[in-house]
Amino acid sequence: MTETRLEWLMPTEVSAALQQCPTLLLPLGTIEWHGLHNVMGLDALKAHALCVRAAQQGHGLVHPPIYGGVGGLEEPHTFIMDQELPPDAPRLRGWLEQWCREAYRNGFRALILLTGHYGPGQQLAVRETAVRMSQTLGIPVLGTAEYFLALDKKYYGDHAAYFETSLMMHLFPESVQLDRLGEAPHQGVGGRDPKRHANAGAGRELCDCIISRLATLARRMPTWDETTRTAFVRAEAEIVALWQRHARDARDVVGLFAGWGAVYQGAFDDYSRALTEERFDDIAALAAGL
Ligand SMILES: [Zn+2]
Repeated sequence: MTETRLEWLMPTEVSAALQQCPTLLLPLGTIEWHGLHNVMGLDALKAHALCVRAAQQGHGLVHPPIYGGVGGLEEPHTFIMDQELPPDAPRLRGWLEQWCREAYRNGFRALILLTGHYGPGQQLAVRETAVRMSQTLGIPVLGTAEYFLALDKKYYGDHAAYFETSLMMHLFPESVQLDRLGEAPHQGVGGRDPKRHANAGAGRELCDCIISRLATLARRMPTWDETTRTAFVRAEAEIVALWQRHARDARDVVGLFAGWGAVYQGAFDDYSRALTEERFDDIAALAAGL
């Protein structure tokens, strides 16, 4: 298996990888309570595993995951680096901006920020920074939660429930201990009951879908011409503008999530496929219609 983790490569191997495909993937997560049955680093571990497998399929390299971001549950052992409101996320944004600049300075020409931690403030900060750095650096930078790559599989994300637990049962089977859960409702778990519904098969189907789309993007993004890149940035900027409108009026986290309502009802399902197929005008139309 090809080594794609940047921290494990020798200098000549990095140079060769850059020659082959100058895409760098950055997995994002945090340390957060994920139920009694999951490990604290679930979000970053999940995002990192997806990025590594995608890079092995589609080329590109993977930066070590960054732990720490916006918001988190009010449960034990949870690190919160930026608050959800106001939605400025100064620490995460500052870090991501500099990371993009350094990746560019080191020769990468397409960047993917994949966040496995996806409260509304985190998603907004990641996507908005990606759009802004695409414009600043003149290269495509995609910033997204992993579930946006499988919306048409009806994967809308959750917290340590059916979806996230199923993904972990596939990626890191030994890390999930469902027998530690009592009866629902489970503390700090949001979504369908993982004890009754989570399974590795479902996790594999979602992971395979996300990995193949990430791999396609990693391979294709550095080859986009200016017209394609401009259309991509315009479409992503439409999504950011929509979320920013909702964030402006939000008084709490529930209000911040208001912009996502139609996404969870299927209105954005075509995004995942359209992104991979480079149908950016369709994405802009989808976002404008939300
Ligand atoms: Zn999570």
